[in-house]
Amino acid sequence: MIQPIYSLVIPIYNEQENITEMYRRLHHVAEQLDGEVELILVDDGSRDRSLSMIRELRHLDSRVRYLSFARNFGHQIAVTAGLNFVQGKCAIIMDADLQDPPELIFQMLEKWQQGYEVVYAQRLSRKQESWLKRFTAYAFYRILRRLSHVDIPTDTGDFCLLDRQVVDILNAMPERNRYIRGLRAWVGFRQTSVLFEREPRFAGKVKYTFGKSWALAIDGIISFSTVPLKLATYLGMVAAAIALLMILLVLYWRLFDHTSPLIGYSLITIAIFFLGSVQLICIGILGEYIGRIYEEVKARPIYTVKETGGLIKISEMQSK
Ligand code: UDP
Ligand code: MG
Repeated sequence: MIQPIYSLVIPIYNEQENITEMYRRLHHVAEQLDGEVELILVDDGSRDRSLSMIRELRHLDSRVRYLSFARNFGHQIAVTAGLNFVQGKCAIIMDADLQDPPELIFQMLEKWQQGYEVVYAQRLSRKQESWLKRFTAYAFYRILRRLSHVDIPTDTGDFCLLDRQVVDILNAMPERNRYIRGLRAWVGFRQTSVLFEREPRFAGKVKYTFGKSWALAIDGIISFSTVPLKLATYLGMVAAAIALLMILLVLYWRLFDHTSPLIGYSLITIAIFFLGSVQLICIGILGEYIGRIYEEVKARPIYTVKETGGLIKISEMQSK
């Protein structure tokens, strides 16, 4: 087998409408590159014709390699799996729906050749995405930056180029909760961006439902920040200050101002609800962390594979 230089990692979940066009565009880009290319397609348990289309591509073009999950594990896990099989000197991660224009690869490679180990694509704008998605994404990236010690660049997705060294480090990380854009920033090395306009989806529906985006956002914050854990302390202090104020107020009324209305029950009810909700929120935050610790401790495999084509696992490659 010829050793590829460029490995493209593409997660695919129910993308039957996009696969042909994606392959056409990538083929065109690959033709213009000066070295061997491998296309690693990761089928994330698609229920449509995606897998059979991938098999066909593999049949036509030996540069296409694939693995297929036994069920849907999610985008970040699909990318992780793809990276596990990368043989090239660099890996390029991109979506299957052509929102990440393959032609940007040239600019990324240029930066890589200048010596950057990580080149991530940064969005200039989000064409045709709803204002709600734009606003939440805008706010989220900025909140994450404030909460985390890791300098995670704003408005970047998973579209990026990673040098072999970085791929090896990511592959050696045992973390099960994989927030790729965070881990990518965490590794360090020389990093830079290329700017691009995010295109609308070529075809098909968005696979990231609101629920999945929300889960990804929480994963990002919990994996890269412990600030939420400290929230309990601060909320506790605020509650204590309010309680103190109430004590002083009640004392004052009792001793000096007998005309004041006694607010009795309502005050007590409010206090109970206030403290109760503060406590529940804090327990919930603890739960988010403990749940993740539990996941890590169980140490189940990150994904299960039902079928592969043309791939060798890196560990086997090294033992050869
Ligand atoms: N994807 C995946 N598994 C999932 C959801 C999405 O592999 O559970 C893939 C999807 O096929 C696409 C990429 O991840 O290639 C990005 O998904 P999508 O376009 O729906 O999200 P967005 O563009 O909004 O980030
Ligand atoms: Mg998309």
